[in-house]
Amino acid sequence: MASFTKEIFYISLLLLSACSGLEKSEQDKLRRQNAQGEFIHRHHDEIRYPLTHPEHRIRERYPWEMAYVGKHSKITKEYFRCKGSSTNPPHVDHKDPARPANYLDCGGFQKHSLPLKGEQEFVYPILIDLLNYVQAKTGCKVIITCGHRCPVHNAYADSSTYNQNSKHMIGAEVDFYVQGMENKPEEVIKILMAYYKEMPIYKENKQYQEFLRTSTGELNVSTPPWHNKEIFIKLYQKSEGRDFDNRHPYPYISVQVRYDRELSEKVVSSWQKAFNNYRRY
Ligand SMILES: [Zn+2]
Repeated sequence: MASFTKEIFYISLLLLSACSGLEKSEQDKLRRQNAQGEFIHRHHDEIRYPLTHPEHRIRERYPWEMAYVGKHSKITKEYFRCKGSSTNPPHVDHKDPARPANYLDCGGFQKHSLPLKGEQEFVYPILIDLLNYVQAKTGCKVIITCGHRCPVHNAYADSSTYNQNSKHMIGAEVDFYVQGMENKPEEVIKILMAYYKEMPIYKENKQYQEFLRTSTGELNVSTPPWHNKEIFIKLYQKSEGRDFDNRHPYPYISVQVRYDRELSEKVVSSWQKAFNNYRRY
């Protein structure tokens, strides 16, 4: 008996819902039949919302667009990230034919950080300031061929003993050339030195303003390098310093940081120091 009542209840519900659907479409049909169109009239000078003539406006810059030096993007520490890549083939060193050494590259900047200073990624700010100064003075783009090199990429890119403690590993060295001035590196070096004459913090300080020359001695360049208290500048000619990161046909400049002004101490690099001072992801 109870199931019979339930059936009647569901049938009624079905009929009701069917009726309401039919009713709605009938109503719509009636509404369309009875609907009448009507024109909206107004006088020719009757204006409720006056339209102003649009004026051309130059939009304000977004914060990220302010980061320019002249027409080129401002150099930041991001430009110094390691150029290693796990897609680079193994590099075999045949210096000792009896025991050829096999080097694999690092996973690149996706797999590790820049060097750290107080838990923060760090590149010596003087390098960034000098390169932005060069861009501002020349109007040309600075191409960084090698900024930070993690110890793994450092060994991969240049396995020579000379390079073992490279300052690239601690963010204290940069290799670069200037687009459009590829064959005028001496002019770029003059600009680097002019920086110390122009910046007020170095005014009256001969240790920074005067550059001395070093004999090439055991260095890997034929041009005597320049140095002041803070930096050491080397010029690699077309045939010199062709490591994995510098496989271009131009001469290039290398700037190393010799002295940390903030800590008032010499900048010294070692493999251990570099190896223990960056994050792996
Ligand atoms: Zn690396």
